[in-house]
Amino acid sequence: MTWDELEMVQPLAAKMLKNSILKQRVAHAYLFEGEQGLGKKEVSLLVAKSLFCLNIGKNMNPCEQCSNCKRINSLSHPDVHLLEPEGLSIKKEQIRSLQQEFSKSGVESKKKFYTIVHADKMTVNAANSLLKFLEEPNSETTAILITEQIQQILPTILSRCQVISFKPLSFNDLEEKLISDGISPTLAPLLANLTNDPIEAMKLNNDEWFAQARKIVLKLYEVMGKGSLFAMVELQEDWYNHFREKNQIDQGLDLLLFIYKDLLTLQIGRNKQLAYPELQSQFERDMLRNSPAKLAEKMSAILEAKRRLHGNMNPHLLMEQLVLKLQGGSTFV
Ligand SMILES: [Zn+2]
Repeated sequence: MTWDELEMVQPLAAKMLKNSILKQRVAHAYLFEGEQGLGKKEVSLLVAKSLFCLNIGKNMNPCEQCSNCKRINSLSHPDVHLLEPEGLSIKKEQIRSLQQEFSKSGVESKKKFYTIVHADKMTVNAANSLLKFLEEPNSETTAILITEQIQQILPTILSRCQVISFKPLSFNDLEEKLISDGISPTLAPLLANLTNDPIEAMKLNNDEWFAQARKIVLKLYEVMGKGSLFAMVELQEDWYNHFREKNQIDQGLDLLLFIYKDLLTLQIGRNKQLAYPELQSQFERDMLRNSPAKLAEKMSAILEAKRRLHGNMNPHLLMEQLVLKLQGGSTFV
């Protein structure tokens, strides 16, 4: 992560942090809050490197080569610490040992830096210890607390932190990020439709089951165009074997839903944010057979199937009924 990258996805956070470093007005404590997957931990390390780097480069980017940058990246710098929950919580002892570490004072310089990940998971005792720590700030100590649940942070702690909010990525930013992280341009739009979280997207991208699921969903859609018999055969041959657990069927239905969402999006004359952009020309042919009202009807049939799935309906029956509805044939069940 560089400042340039951060400026693209989180302009406000980048500006606030960079300014405070440039003007040498770094706060004693920041609270980074926002959803998972927005790079909050990486940004805290970027701030640390920007404070400790021996050879700061253009746009304040740390060099990544000097001994300080390298040790911060490998979490082995004596004056830079990263605290994460041990088990389910951050315990008082963890805060204590951090304080002891710091009271050895000036291992290398006076500057000290620590990050607390999942700060909302501090026990009350840990939070009270931290509070004392924050109340007597050593002038050169910087703390970054990270949370996905700001409402869980004690008000006494909150009031001592400068809050930096990380905004969810827009669809386009997320898609771009996924592609630059190495996800194929074919899959990135689908993943960006499925989740807001780049980490979750990366997991799905590396998941063989998911890749196969996507293929089966597209095949089901294709054979539905040929007739209900073909569709029933496809359900038997591929779908039932692959989509077994409830959450798997649910995800399969989402992937199916995105096909109709794409058709509707194209139907109303837009081609942005398609989940399956590589199928655009096929979808443009298919949409001629469906009015917007018909497409909306099909989408609600899928949503209804999702609801019934969670109401414990037999999944085979559920899929057979859905396929018949999606074919829009005369055999409504
Ligand atoms: Zn450096």
